[in-house]
Amino acid sequence: MRRAVCPGSFDPVTNGHLDIVGRASRLFDEVIVAVMINPSKSGMFSVPERITMLREVTTDLPNVRVETFQGLLVDFCKTHDAPVVVKGLRAVSDFDYELQMAQMNVGLAGVETLFMPTNPLYSYLSSSLVKDVTKWGGDVSQHVPESVHRRLRSRFDSGAQPE
Ligand code: ADP
Repeated sequence: MRRAVCPGSFDPVTNGHLDIVGRASRLFDEVIVAVMINPSKSGMFSVPERITMLREVTTDLPNVRVETFQGLLVDFCKTHDAPVVVKGLRAVSDFDYELQMAQMNVGLAGVETLFMPTNPLYSYLSSSLVKDVTKWGGDVSQHVPESVHRRLRSRFDSGAQPE
């Protein structure tokens, strides 16, 4: 069983994330989307809400499951018998930090990182930008799945602020 992990905050999941998860699901027998729990940052959506959205938008990918993790990603990988992390690279600006983490993770536990170049359609897309644009009334319907778009709108209609 070849298993990979796609880690992140997913606050909320965007079409850029989904593209990477979908492509990874065609390369591996199983992909675990791992939602990072960061106790010092509450985010816009709670972790259970992020998981619900991720599960909704990955129902057509039977070999994808969604879990949470706190602490070291390499420990999560070990527990789940996943020797590979898949990360999307949007631009050179992502590379510096991602390279450091990849080198640390291989050194810590032999966990490899596979970098996937983002689909150029999504290279400028991030969860924080999606939240900001929605806050000011911009239309992000092309950038997030429909169910996420609905939740974003209702969250802002009820007066939420992006982080
Ligand atoms: P964000 O940067 O949007 O807050 P996350 O921490 O949720 O993202 O992202 C988790 C991972 O998803 C990132 O490390 C990156 O590998 C990938 N990712 C995020 N946005 C995109 C995108 N637009 N295209 C490709 N990959 C992306």
